[in-house]
Amino acid sequence: MPGSAQSVLPKLVCASANPDKVAEMALVLDGLVELLPRPAGMADVVEDAEDLAGNARLKASAVCAAVGTAAVSDDTGLEVVALGGAPGVFSARYAGVNASYTDNIEQLLLELERVGAVDAAERKARFRTVAMVVWPDGSELFTEGVIEGEIATRPRGTNGFGYDPVFVPHEGDGRSFAEMGAEKHLISHRGRAFRALADALSTLWRDQQW
Ligand code: IMP
Repeated sequence: MPGSAQSVLPKLVCASANPDKVAEMALVLDGLVELLPRPAGMADVVEDAEDLAGNARLKASAVCAAVGTAAVSDDTGLEVVALGGAPGVFSARYAGVNASYTDNIEQLLLELERVGAVDAAERKARFRTVAMVVWPDGSELFTEGVIEGEIATRPRGTNGFGYDPVFVPHEGDGRSFAEMGAEKHLISHRGRAFRALADALSTLWRDQQW
């Protein structure tokens, strides 16, 4: 568990080396923790858990064990209602182990066509992110962030990554995530999960100082 009242910020090692994710995490956790980079050269963790929390735990635990300091991780899945929640935990490899983002999007559009999901109402989907901190004593804290939307019939926009070109959030103005700029982060699953994590960490640390 983290220490009690202290003048320096608690340290968290980032389990991700993805610069976009690290930047987003750093922005949300700024002033609350000192975010340390993932150790260079550390092998990728095999993400073979059955759910997002399991994968987030695998990643944070591996980095925590390697560094001996609390680690923070996240794991995200796209859940499409007409596909029974697929690709979900398999989002990164929906079209195969080495699938590109484009391959995965093509696979998703084909699957929706196959099940006859044509109208927007039949193409409902959500992104879900689990953000997790694991401490060296094995204790953990995790939060979730969700954004509801639908899958467009064709990719639109060039920003972002992954399924962004085909995900149209219901809280937006009809643009896909890939047609948005930084405003994606204000409503995104990952932004929500990390803001909830920041709130939970500040409550935890405030309570420990009493
Ligand atoms: P990860 O757990 O963050 O690595 O996400 C797993 C997969 O979900 C990625 O390979 C992407 O295909 C997809 N994904 C995660 N976050 C996003 C996002 O913000 N937009 C679009 N796709 C995403």
